[in-house]
Amino acid sequence: MSLILTVLPDVKPDANAVTILNVRAYVIASKKAEEEGGGFADCHSQAEGHWILGTDQWPIANPMSFYEKYKARRSTWGIDALGSVIVEIELTNGMTGVGVSIGGEPACFLIENHFSRFLEGQDPLNIEFLWDVMWRSSMNYGRKGLTVQAISAIDLALWDCAGKLRNEPVYKLLGGKTKGSLPCYATCYDPLAAKNLGFKGAKFPLPFGPADGDEGMRKNIQRVKEIREAVGPDFPLMIDCYMALTVGYTLKLLELIKPYNIKWVEEHLPPDQYAGYTEVKKRNPSTALLTCGEHEYTRWGFKLLLDQECADLLQPDVTWCGGITEARRIVALASAYDIPIIPHGSSIYSYHLQYAFPNLPMSEFILLAADGASISPYFGQLFDDEPLPKNGWVDLDPNKPGFGVTLKKTHLRRPYPRADKSNE
Ligand SMILES: [Mg+2]
Repeated sequence: MSLILTVLPDVKPDANAVTILNVRAYVIASKKAEEEGGGFADCHSQAEGHWILGTDQWPIANPMSFYEKYKARRSTWGIDALGSVIVEIELTNGMTGVGVSIGGEPACFLIENHFSRFLEGQDPLNIEFLWDVMWRSSMNYGRKGLTVQAISAIDLALWDCAGKLRNEPVYKLLGGKTKGSLPCYATCYDPLAAKNLGFKGAKFPLPFGPADGDEGMRKNIQRVKEIREAVGPDFPLMIDCYMALTVGYTLKLLELIKPYNIKWVEEHLPPDQYAGYTEVKKRNPSTALLTCGEHEYTRWGFKLLLDQECADLLQPDVTWCGGITEARRIVALASAYDIPIIPHGSSIYSYHLQYAFPNLPMSEFILLAADGASISPYFGQLFDDEPLPKNGWVDLDPNKPGFGVTLKKTHLRRPYPRADKSNE
């Protein structure tokens, strides 16, 4: 039996509502500009030699590490091949909202040629409706990855519009503050530098994976030991495995890191290995927490991780998992399982969510500056005024509406332009 008794009447903007005039999707003008500008919305779009791609001294274990040709650096297999996508939604009152993700030109194609039809002419405040029609209409080709990243960028632009229309920061629209200030841990290759900058903990990449054998494991443990000795016994340390390991290798790693007081081990398996995540969590020989979710999408993906007891905490990326609209559902779902959420990266788009809900205890900040040891904007040169952590804390300005940042348009290129709709 169905409770859908009739076709629903069309959702039309209320009389005098401000509506969406134009949706535009941009990439960064060139790969060179993206790298020189600090990556913009793609944190991996950095010049060769940057620690986040892996270096000769410190490679980063990843799903391609099994292949000799691709193991040295993540750039060799195109981790940054798609690059940033930036969505700008222009309203009939002249206001604009901005959202970002990764996905580059393919995401721009989806946004301009498919999703724009659901948005232009609509009330930007009907966000649940707009999310639902984008989701349902892309089910036949989407559901994860690029499509949901494109929807995420649009969703974030809608929330930015909503904040500006109501003259309030997004966290206030979500229910207001749950914390007076937001503590941050740093992701970096030098946890001592992060400690000296005031961060509340530090995460570093695991250099070697199963294909590097016993010698690689020995070097991994040596690295963990040296970092622990550098930062002292109590500074929280986490290890990111970027989908590189197997169940057996992870269990061995967890056994060998026991002396080093590791707070969590992150994303040890490929994201579809739900059963493997369950098994590692069941058999975890250490006190380290187990985390995943950075490359998971939507409430349905996260429900699988929760139902199957895959992790002790979850790490959705707000700019990838479906935007604020979907992230708040994931947050609610996780709270019912008493599982905390610590979102992956994403700066302001994460901070507003973290301010607004109690089961998000802290924030990730990736040290993307070329020296790997200082604080620079997560989104590089994308915004004029991205708030930065100070001494390991982030504060949001209550007087800045939306996500509180101003888009710099100098580096943008629109690959699939459509004629602007005019207000007249
Ligand atoms: Mg990670």
